[in-house]
Amino acid sequence: MNEEHRIEAVSASPGIAIGTVHKYRRIRLETDSRTIDPAECDTHIERFAHALDLVEEELHRIASLARTEIGENSSAIIETHIQMLRDPELKKMIESQIRKLKTVDTAVFDAFETFLKRLRSAGNAFFAERISDITDVRDRILYRLQHDASSHAPLKGSILIADDLTPTEVVELSRLGLKAIVLVAGGLTSHASIIARSMSIPKLVACKGAVGSASEGDSAIVDAKTGQLILYPTASTLAEYQSKWEALQRHRADVESQSGLPSITACGVEIALRANVEFESELHHVMASGAMGIGLLRTESFFMDTQQGTVASQQNFYEHAVEASGHHSVTIRLFDVGGDKITDLRESEANPFLGWRGIRILLDRKELLREQLRAILGAAGTYPGRIRIMAPMVTLLDEVRELRLEVDRVQQERMIAGKPIDPDVPIGIMVEVPAVALQADEFAAVSDFFSIGTNDLTQYTLAVDRGNPLISELYQHHHPAVFRLIRMTIEAADRKGIPVAVCGELASDPDAAELLVGLGLRDLSMSPSSIADVKARLRSSRCDEMRAKATVFI
Ligand code: PEP
Ligand code: MG
Repeated sequence: MNEEHRIEAVSASPGIAIGTVHKYRRIRLETDSRTIDPAECDTHIERFAHALDLVEEELHRIASLARTEIGENSSAIIETHIQMLRDPELKKMIESQIRKLKTVDTAVFDAFETFLKRLRSAGNAFFAERISDITDVRDRILYRLQHDASSHAPLKGSILIADDLTPTEVVELSRLGLKAIVLVAGGLTSHASIIARSMSIPKLVACKGAVGSASEGDSAIVDAKTGQLILYPTASTLAEYQSKWEALQRHRADVESQSGLPSITACGVEIALRANVEFESELHHVMASGAMGIGLLRTESFFMDTQQGTVASQQNFYEHAVEASGHHSVTIRLFDVGGDKITDLRESEANPFLGWRGIRILLDRKELLREQLRAILGAAGTYPGRIRIMAPMVTLLDEVRELRLEVDRVQQERMIAGKPIDPDVPIGIMVEVPAVALQADEFAAVSDFFSIGTNDLTQYTLAVDRGNPLISELYQHHHPAVFRLIRMTIEAADRKGIPVAVCGELASDPDAAELLVGLGLRDLSMSPSSIADVKARLRSSRCDEMRAKATVFI
């Protein structure tokens, strides 16, 4: 009889699940490295074309499943797999390898390897997490070259434990009824984690030793609140978690029932709860969640296809964002590329988070900045009074001054061309580097508003990489040092009379939201799925109580 055993991990999608262990392993795919006869080339090329058709069919099926059961965002991820599969360059490369007398499987493997090598050498978390998307496409082609169909064991009620999972595997496996996912590898920002969150499947990553320690068919518990996998739970642990699970279901139902009510504290103070949005496909959540417009519109999705969108496609996105926000405002953040976020502009850097990122890139690559400003100011001309511009990764006052000159320049350009303008577009900054919080009075003199980015402010204050699972327990949003910098920022904004908000993940935690309101914040932006929870908490709390909690905390 095994004893109860707990493994610490990082929570990548919240919730609690009780189920039976199912260990998932991919079928090992071998390649055939012999040299083929020139007469066989055409057959190998035909087999390749046939495998591509089968994989494409399979991916379309998964994408439509994702669309109907999860949402556009997840199906868009699978659509990019299809684009990858149909990349003409890749096809050319594979056919030319076959003409060099390689077998079709070796040709496929080698062609993908060239691509993967580039990503591995970029030494960047975003690229590293895309590797599993690409190997998934490769392995699907290899599988189809070697087998006719795939099959999975029934998964109803199981806690799936694996070394790693691709986004397509998450979609396919979840359809079979799994309750939770536990991965030895994996990252918070991987597509597989994004999909698990949109499907509300509890998920743990960086769960070392999980595959070796768990036994197939035994019961297990996933606590994605505290970040624990509990193997061989005792009867009393099972009973404890059964009642926690029931309490969570009751809490969710209660929160849902309050979602249409106004966002005011128990003492009647209005708190603006806004949405953080990254993809066009998320826009319909803005109104549905009861958000007062968009407090953070991330724009890096234009780099997902390795090139920024045209001015027209960007402007379209920004206008749709305004249209999706009722009569409320939209805060558009300029491209925050670099750091852990995609860019094909970036040289390889030893410390990307301390390197060429955000406003630093934009002021060095003025054409990139001007194109984005043309799109934003175009949308602002169509919808005056509705758009605010926000600069990421600001550290120097001169960066803000230079950005203002660039905005003026594009406004002039529009005026000369006789295009409509909004002359009063507010220009604000993300407060996400301690230097800015420490100099908040000076920054408040050159900025129209502040939005505190606690995700980065935490990593830069505590010197803890936000994406590194080895030190995830040191990445503490709630650290008093972070809260002191937040308080300094709010006080400086109040002195200068400029608006201040928080748009980092901290705002989506109801306990932290109480502390932030206690410090004087009246504007919080978060993922739409967190709004109901935060609103329910604030509606039941009084400002004096929240102030007292914040004073004790700091
Ligand atoms: C932040 O740093 O808190 C933030 C909101 O920006 P991002 O997570 O996109 O870096
Ligand atoms: Mg940030």
